[in-house]
Amino acid sequence: MDTQELKALVAGEIDARCHQLSELSLKIHSNPELGFQEVKAAAWLPQYLEENGFSVDRGICELPTAFRGGYGQGKPAIAILAEYDALPKLGHACGHNLIAACAVGAGVASRLAIDQFGGSILVIGTPAEELYGGKAIMADRGAFNNIDMAMLVHPGVYNTATTPALACLSLEVEFFGKAAHAAARPEAGINALEAMLNSFAAINSLRQHIKDKARIHGIITDGGEAANIVPAHSAGIFLVRAEDDNYLDELKQRVINCFIGAATGSGARLEYRWGAVRYAPMRSNITLARLFQRNMQSFGRRVRLFNPSDAFGSTDMGNVSQLVPSIHPFVAIAPKEVAVHSPQFASAAASETGIQGLLDAAKALAMSVVDLVANPEIVTRVKKEFRQER
Ligand SMILES: [Zn+2]
Ligand SMILES: [Zn+2]
Repeated sequence: MDTQELKALVAGEIDARCHQLSELSLKIHSNPELGFQEVKAAAWLPQYLEENGFSVDRGICELPTAFRGGYGQGKPAIAILAEYDALPKLGHACGHNLIAACAVGAGVASRLAIDQFGGSILVIGTPAEELYGGKAIMADRGAFNNIDMAMLVHPGVYNTATTPALACLSLEVEFFGKAAHAAARPEAGINALEAMLNSFAAINSLRQHIKDKARIHGIITDGGEAANIVPAHSAGIFLVRAEDDNYLDELKQRVINCFIGAATGSGARLEYRWGAVRYAPMRSNITLARLFQRNMQSFGRRVRLFNPSDAFGSTDMGNVSQLVPSIHPFVAIAPKEVAVHSPQFASAAASETGIQGLLDAAKALAMSVVDLVANPEIVTRVKKEFRQER
């Protein structure tokens, strides 16, 4: 069978499973679970793989809701990654329910390519993308060591084959002052809230003089107890992002200096902790991205190689992309006015358009697996690009 026939066959396999996949996706959508608590999704997804001939390891990397399903043996070992965590209060407003069903659907359809050409297909369940960077933890624990490449398709408002994503680190800050009656004895107090507000002012000033794509943003999580008490304690959480790791390191000290200045000015004592998990910037493998783009375009979607909006956040797929050739394309499931992480996007993730996006993305992934296992020279090119870019 030639590759065109095999591609038609794997796409047909997704069509034949469209009800199962849409049901799986909707079931995860109506049972939203936060990061590391995705027990239902982490039961349903491996079960589907197992029922379809995959061998499954559950709780890999000492993470109860992570898993790995494998089919076939040897090289190339191609991983399709699944996310399935939801957002606090908003449910599946990032559409990870679609990513999950897309990954298992693409994995199961890819069996046909593995049967014919050899190699192996892995579906790796990666929990807690939103809040804890599950893939960063899994990368440290070796989850991606023996694979040749990794792919994950995320729902969005554009069809793009690559995604820019920034390096990102979280920061927790606390100021400790001294309580006093705010009117009767203000001179006896040390105002921890003012220290926090002055830190925001200093960061706002700093922001004028940093590189374009860097981002610093935060919230106050404790601003005092009552208006008539000088706040003795304040706390905040911040995110610092940059286009590359070196600039992020440089920014770290400049951001801390803002807090040190505010602490000195107010007399409050500063404590801070950088987050344990660091999101790495995304390195998109263009050879892989072009494969995906061509396959996705074959059923009428116009797919750009690069995102026209130049919008960027961060993703723990960045950490995977530092280890192995990776792509993180977007499939459009909503009009471009709709914001990801909004209630409207949560509705789109359960809509007919959402399911269509899931099915198209699953087909394009499985068809790209066909290209890869049938053409060892493409695998060589993918790896060569990865090495040269380093
Ligand atoms: Zn997401
Ligand atoms: Zn998200």
